[in-house]
Amino acid sequence: MNPSFDQFNTPEVQMAYLASIVESSDDAIVGKNLQSIVTSWNKGAERVFGYTAEEMIGQSITRLIPTERLGEEGQILSRIQQGKRIDHFETIRVRKDGKEIEVSVTVSAIRNAEGTIIGASKVARDITLTKQAERDREMILEKERELREKAEKADRIKNEFLATLSHELRTPLSAILGWVQILRMKPPTPEDLQQGLEVIFRNTRVQSQLIEDLLDMNRILMGKVRLDVQLVNLPEIMGVALESVALSVEAKEIQLKTIIDPLAGPVRGDPVRLQQVIWNLLTNAIKFTPKGGKVEVVLERVNSHVEINISDTGIGIKPDFLASIFDRFSQVDSSTTRHYGGLGLGLSIVKHLTELQGGTVHAKSAGEGKGSTFRVHLPLPLALHGDHLRTDRQHPSSSPDMEMEWDQPNLTDKKVLIVDDDRDTAEVVKHLLLDCGAEATLVSSAKEALAMGTFSYFDVLISDIGMPDMDGFEFIRQVRAMGKEKGSKISAIALTAFSRPEDRKLAVISGFDVYLSKPADPQELVSLVDRFVKRDE
Ligand code: ADP
Repeated sequence: MNPSFDQFNTPEVQMAYLASIVESSDDAIVGKNLQSIVTSWNKGAERVFGYTAEEMIGQSITRLIPTERLGEEGQILSRIQQGKRIDHFETIRVRKDGKEIEVSVTVSAIRNAEGTIIGASKVARDITLTKQAERDREMILEKERELREKAEKADRIKNEFLATLSHELRTPLSAILGWVQILRMKPPTPEDLQQGLEVIFRNTRVQSQLIEDLLDMNRILMGKVRLDVQLVNLPEIMGVALESVALSVEAKEIQLKTIIDPLAGPVRGDPVRLQQVIWNLLTNAIKFTPKGGKVEVVLERVNSHVEINISDTGIGIKPDFLASIFDRFSQVDSSTTRHYGGLGLGLSIVKHLTELQGGTVHAKSAGEGKGSTFRVHLPLPLALHGDHLRTDRQHPSSSPDMEMEWDQPNLTDKKVLIVDDDRDTAEVVKHLLLDCGAEATLVSSAKEALAMGTFSYFDVLISDIGMPDMDGFEFIRQVRAMGKEKGSKISAIALTAFSRPEDRKLAVISGFDVYLSKPADPQELVSLVDRFVKRDE
């Protein structure tokens, strides 16, 4: 042995040497007897558990063990008594400040000179931070996995979509190209020419619809859908939508039933977009219903909203597909879908457009082969909730030929002056009156109306209240003060968005004959005009 190491070789020095290693260790190194009483406690143990050596020596080690883990101590001791070691046992212990920490514990037996086990030495390492880092890493990995799966799914959907898109664009294109070639080959017969042009026309429309859908979806995704919101006469736009599918209804011999509540509207929305919603649902109903099946369209008012139900007796929808039916590019299994064609965008567009206009849309189906129902809810404008505008509620009536049951009065040759700074409202009113045969003149301010100098030419005056420069109250006062020969006695209807009781009172006090809240029920407005005209005759 190297003589220079001799001085370290005495038992005393060796003991001191070990004691210094124990003291300077970062780990907790603790001695205990077989009754779990602490016999030694190094600086590391102070740092890890927060207790000083004075506080712990002579105390039971169990004060570090959470109640629900107390059983562990018995198991550890019994292993030690059998002469076994415990290596890197990961568990939880409680610090003096009550904080739980994660520790990795290694325990080995301490024997006396005779070799009898008299206690145990325990090395505990605080692994809280390591464990936390592991959990964080696991979480990040999990998140990454989810994102990757999402990206892969999006990529798959995109690829399937591109395949579908090219298929859907090519199908009409090949019909168009085919017919163009036929017509170019030799001078076509009149029959060929007619058939060819029809096919070309139909297929270019199919293509332009596909492109419209794509552009719409893009606008929706970019948040760039612009709505031209106005009062919409739903029965009217439903009529237009129904007309546009008349040919396919006929071709598929679909039995189409329409039930329209004449008092269902009007609603606030964009007429073109609402028509698109109805048209989409209608074309789906026809597309997914076999020849000879039934499609029913119901429009009715239910409490404070209008409900449009489009149901069919077609192929129905599987329950598991119902939940995602309004998702983009969502179509039932590709074979069926290819049978029917389409991009899987229509319903997603329907949902977005309906929601943009404050409505909701739901799909219902009892399952495959059991038909489907799509229900659109649209809120009524607030002013229409009250009963003051409602006549007695009528039941929706079945009208297979789509003739609306508007009780339209005949206002031929009657002259109505409309004063309103809101062009859209004024146009709606004008339109309603023109429909009844009346002559309607539109001016956008009270001053412009007064500048006419006389009202005797007109039978009825309809005026807004809130207008810049001169409001409706002042306007009617001036009209009433003009003298009989200038038409001061003209029947006057206030049509306004102010609907507080005091506004109504003031309108009548100022000189209006009657007061209607905007948006007024078209039927009521027109019949009021009719009543005034008859009264004055
Ligand atoms: P497209 O009709 O172009 O496929 P849509 O978004 O309009 O796209 O419809 C998505 C899918 O929802 C359709 O492919 C079809 O599977 C299902 N679907 C829509 N309307 C009906 C309906 N009335 N009956 C049965 N299935 C329907």
